[in-house]
Amino acid sequence: MTAPTLSEPPASPAAPPQLALDARQRAMLAEMGLGLGWPSTECSFSVPQSLVGETPAATPAATPAATPVTALTTQKAPATTSAPAPLLPANHLDWDALQTSVASCQACGLCQSRTRTVFGTGDPQARWMVVGEAPGEHEDQQGEPFVGQAGQLLDNMLKAMRLHRGATGPQGVFITNVLKCRPPSNRNPTPQEVLQCEPFLRQQVALVQPRVILALGRFAAQSLLQQSLPEVASLPLGKLRGQVHHYQGVPVVVSYHPAYLLRAPEDKAKAWADLCLAMDTFK
Ligand code: URA
Repeated sequence: MTAPTLSEPPASPAAPPQLALDARQRAMLAEMGLGLGWPSTECSFSVPQSLVGETPAATPAATPAATPVTALTTQKAPATTSAPAPLLPANHLDWDALQTSVASCQACGLCQSRTRTVFGTGDPQARWMVVGEAPGEHEDQQGEPFVGQAGQLLDNMLKAMRLHRGATGPQGVFITNVLKCRPPSNRNPTPQEVLQCEPFLRQQVALVQPRVILALGRFAAQSLLQQSLPEVASLPLGKLRGQVHHYQGVPVVVSYHPAYLLRAPEDKAKAWADLCLAMDTFK
């Protein structure tokens, strides 16, 4: 399967890249809101006609394609009187030590409001890695990423790819976030928080050594791509989709955050195209 250029859908919908889907996967696509007769048996990279007129959420969310990825360096941080703690070195830690280090981290103020740290879940040797933004309320209480409504959608997206957070081997996936602690009231991560937490994510990627990373949402995209793509902060999420980026030599595919997709189901078709690109990249 050749990697598609999503910004230029194939002229003829008759020749999309092929991806056989079984009944279970089609059921999962239905869960994503893509069950209206599309895709039938294959990955299709054009927005299906059946979704063009789909009723958007009652309160339509802003289209991410028009929303620049906020510069981590320019986003306003909450007022703080103390100097930020130095970055924690993590590049020498093995998996257990890394987990311990995250659990006891006090590098930023989020340690004061968190209930639990959320290290990540899944197979530490998975060939797939998913990176989200930060724990929310449920994740903070349970210590596991993506356990709320957005998590259910993520699970269904993964099922459509034949992946499962509880699996090892070919179906395994490791799921984590840019931040390991919940920002109070689910506010956006600050640039300083992202910077402080980045060594943990970097070492997770170094140890897992995934074959593909799925970056969900602008904070994941920006955190993973800011070194390889310095202008990432000025690019809308829509411009980061449809191409394969790299983080520490690992291919990265950017897509919408499941929480956004819950608010903007009309963009699930694009998310499915992103998953198809990721599956093509994996091969
Ligand atoms: N959103 C995220 O980005 N991560 C979670 O773990 C939950 C919601």
